[in-house]
Amino acid sequence: MQTKQPYTINQALHQAADRLSRLPDAEPRMDAEVLLAHLLDVSRTHLFAWPEKALTPEQQTHFNSLIAERLKGKPLAYITGWREFWSLEFEVTPATLIPRPETEILVERALELIPKNTPAQVTDLGTGSGAIAAAIASERPLTDVLASDLSEKSLAVAQKNFQRLQLGSIDSRLGSWCQALPRDIDFDLILSNPPYVAEGDPHLEKNGLPWEPDCALTSGLDGLDDIHKIITQARQHLKPGGRLLLEHGWDQGPSVRELMASTGYQAISTRQDLAGRDRVTEGCVPCWKPLAETVY
Ligand code: GLN
Repeated sequence: MQTKQPYTINQALHQAADRLSRLPDAEPRMDAEVLLAHLLDVSRTHLFAWPEKALTPEQQTHFNSLIAERLKGKPLAYITGWREFWSLEFEVTPATLIPRPETEILVERALELIPKNTPAQVTDLGTGSGAIAAAIASERPLTDVLASDLSEKSLAVAQKNFQRLQLGSIDSRLGSWCQALPRDIDFDLILSNPPYVAEGDPHLEKNGLPWEPDCALTSGLDGLDDIHKIITQARQHLKPGGRLLLEHGWDQGPSVRELMASTGYQAISTRQDLAGRDRVTEGCVPCWKPLAETVY
């Protein structure tokens, strides 16, 4: 929509919020503010401080095109190219899943388990934009963090994020789940937010999910294919007493616990999200470990 008169920040936000109010998963005013702040390269606070400032015609046109993209359902993070996680800014692209607040539950639990004053070996499998690995490395500088991903494009985004966040010490490897891991390191913790949505789940049609990489979202008919692989493979890469922590869907707690138990993990437990739904399940490798090699 082109306005003849130069319009102010306040008018632009008002009009954009009005247009966005028909998008089911939008927070109209907030989305408009985030997009305008992104375009003007200022903070949202700047918008509140200068509501009467006029936009140039180029800025108006550009803003309208960003709002049009959002109206098509494109997630905010893919329009701006950024998403905050654990108070760190991550570049995201359509090759990476957009980090979700619920994944902070996995990070919180991992931090309870990682000592502050002694080195530990931790890996984040299927790192995407690198959010989990970076959060851990930023909180536990003595920890050796390895981040892996099957997608070259994703891993390149993660590496850029590690560099920009000055977490360049994070090692990164290309490969599928534990196949990416070195054979000569046993880990204290293996972390993952794998794909876990069932193929054909109607949820995939909503909330911007059609814009996200399918390989980071879906995993077989019950959503458990990759979780199953990780549970089987991770045992051979954990120290005795080491733990596997997995994020999963709200209704997958019983299946994930059962899979861990039948694979020989112990001390299995699940953390719930703020809505009280199963979200992160962990299991511990017993202090004896069978010598048999895993066949992937
Ligand atoms: N929690 C995400 C969603 O349902 C899915 C993320 C994932 O599959 N790891 O939107």
